[in-house]
Amino acid sequence: MKILITGAAGFIGSHLVAQLLAKGHTIISLDNLSTGEKAYLEPSLSHVNHTFVYGSVLDRSLLIDLMDSCDAVIHLAAVLGVKNLVNNPLKVIEGNIDGTKNILEIAYAKRIKVVFASTSEVYGKNEKIPYTEDSDRILGPASKNRWCYATAKALDEHLCFAYAEKGLPVTIIRYFNAYGPRAQTSDYGMVIPKFIKQALKSQPITVYGDGTQTRSFTYIDDTVQGTILCLDNRWNGEVFNIGRPEEISINELAAKIKQICQSHSDIVHIPYEEVYGDKYEDTKQRVPDITKSEQLLQFNPSTSIDNGLKWTIEWYKKTIDGREQ
Ligand code: UDP
Repeated sequence: MKILITGAAGFIGSHLVAQLLAKGHTIISLDNLSTGEKAYLEPSLSHVNHTFVYGSVLDRSLLIDLMDSCDAVIHLAAVLGVKNLVNNPLKVIEGNIDGTKNILEIAYAKRIKVVFASTSEVYGKNEKIPYTEDSDRILGPASKNRWCYATAKALDEHLCFAYAEKGLPVTIIRYFNAYGPRAQTSDYGMVIPKFIKQALKSQPITVYGDGTQTRSFTYIDDTVQGTILCLDNRWNGEVFNIGRPEEISINELAAKIKQICQSHSDIVHIPYEEVYGDKYEDTKQRVPDITKSEQLLQFNPSTSIDNGLKWTIEWYKKTIDGREQ
């Protein structure tokens, strides 16, 4: 297959490109390098079946050109991260809605398969855990920037479903907190790379709030596996949770990372208001029900948090010595 991957130089994208190339696919990587970096695509950059294109999903004519020869698009490009939600709502809304609209319109005209990367954020603060794909979305008021990412992604999903009804082959993925080796910027909040760097540099490990909030962290190889399974046309018009249900509190996460790194860092608690002012409301708990993904996709996220953290920390240990991360 010839596949266009948008946001290919990002964390999930760069891993996905490598695995799809290894499976014999031809890949066009599109990225505007806003949060991704071209270097993250090494060693795939020199692969004979790989072309990197610098550009944006907001550039319609570029998309029309690139999609002309493709069999599928995996649309990962997004404006994300807590910092952006709080400080750049317009960028988040336009980047996530206009870009997806472009991809879907062009794919529909050409009848190209789309895999759309949505997020577990769309469930918002629904307290009924775990989330199945048809769980309600419970969000705070639109006056809080914090909810603009979840809202934009949910609107994108509506667009996908609307196009699916018109015959577009499209599958939606809701990712749950992916992590792993290689590039994942911590500037936009991602907690695992941040804690690892703090632990390795003997800096305080900064837990926000009381640390009892939980997440279901998903190792990148499992995230990529789920994404590739969604390329299959049998799952057109469907949405899947792609995550690992193992739940861990941020306090436990900090302690585990400190222990695996054999770090002398202190674990400190910082009130949310000190970090974000009154602009942010954290999600208390987020756990996927993956019955549907397991049964239909045969999705099997087998990497425990202990193993995933070990491998990730090994990678950071190797790179952090050589250059500032
Ligand atoms: N978090 C933290 N310290 C940090 C960064 C994040 O305690 O330095 C917390 C954050 O408040 C949230 C969790 O870690 O409860 C996951 O944050 P992340 O931004 O990685 O993902 P998301 O909130 O989007 O699930």
